[in-house]
Amino acid sequence: MGSVRVRIGRWGYDGPMDPRPAPGIEGVVLGQGASSSFDGRPGMPDRFGRALRDLRISVTDRCNFRCPYCMPAEVFGRDFAFLPKELVLSFEEITRLAGIFVALGVGKLRITGGEPLVRRDLPVLISDLAALRTPEGDPVDLTLTTNGSALRALAGPLAEAGLQRITVSLDSLDDEVFGTMNGVEFPVSKVLDGIAAARAAGLAPIKVNTVVRRGMNEASVLPLARWARSEGLILRFIEYMDVGHSNGWRLDDVVPAAEILELIDAELPLEPVAAQYRGEVAGRYAFRDGSGEVGIIASVSAPFCGDCTRARLSAEGSLYTCLFAVAGTDLKGPLRAGATDAELAALVESLWSVRADRYSELRSAATEKLPKVEMFALGG
Ligand code: SF4
Repeated sequence: MGSVRVRIGRWGYDGPMDPRPAPGIEGVVLGQGASSSFDGRPGMPDRFGRALRDLRISVTDRCNFRCPYCMPAEVFGRDFAFLPKELVLSFEEITRLAGIFVALGVGKLRITGGEPLVRRDLPVLISDLAALRTPEGDPVDLTLTTNGSALRALAGPLAEAGLQRITVSLDSLDDEVFGTMNGVEFPVSKVLDGIAAARAAGLAPIKVNTVVRRGMNEASVLPLARWARSEGLILRFIEYMDVGHSNGWRLDDVVPAAEILELIDAELPLEPVAAQYRGEVAGRYAFRDGSGEVGIIASVSAPFCGDCTRARLSAEGSLYTCLFAVAGTDLKGPLRAGATDAELAALVESLWSVRADRYSELRSAATEKLPKVEMFALGG
């Protein structure tokens, strides 16, 4: 395959390209080395050979919760100025960009926020995204992460629109503890109602994410594990992270994966399970009695940057190549200024090809204070 050096449009990219067109997206061509050595699928590798496989799409920076580890109320009060509507990508723009990422090798789209269910008419976007097909002609793996506050009403419409599975954040089954962890005293029962509605709507699997912060909810770990096991839900514990620059993160407040596992294993013996695919975020542990599994996302004690295949598209239309980024690259500007799909694709590939992010492996006292973009602004 001869590589052709071309200059694409007005937006910086000047590299070798494979002239075969990708299906469905006009003029988008797959990057050099179509079959990446990462996992045998087409796609441009980054500086560490990691392929672009997952796109987290933030559809809003707004949220109705004020979780202290993400959007502490004392910093993001009721009068906090979220993005004005005109700066937020429309559903058409999101779908167009998502289509370009899928043509470049992305197989999984995760809808996030802020809280995605506060964005009006979200099922419309879900149905547009569900229609996308990979270069191999397969449907994309379409999922969503929510705090569950509006899930009881929206689970049905989202599933009908084409959503396949869902992840719900729930940091405790204890109302008082959960109220503190969500910052707005939101009751556990309403989130449980949402999970029941998701199950009734046929969304599967249903995963539950729990951020564990020392001194706040470590006593909730075992009750949550018992509950998820009895409900047949996949529970994933997340180590508290120094995301953004406002949550006052301290290493002492982290409950490391080993300690979480110990808490559970003492009553519900666990054994490690192999990852389902390269780049899977959570470490998997099955209950020895075969009654299910739990996961641990250990960004602090066991970083997983080596296989990180994730990019993030903010509600404002910027591309971020790491959760702990201090800056992103504007895609909305070129898009609204008339860039073609091929030009946008070339821009994305040029950014990914030079990506060298591995923040969690480099985390130190020096990195903690970096002006990292807030997690709710880049889609978690
Ligand atoms: S720290 Fe950045 S590079 Fe590492 S796993 Fe997280 S998002 Fe990926």
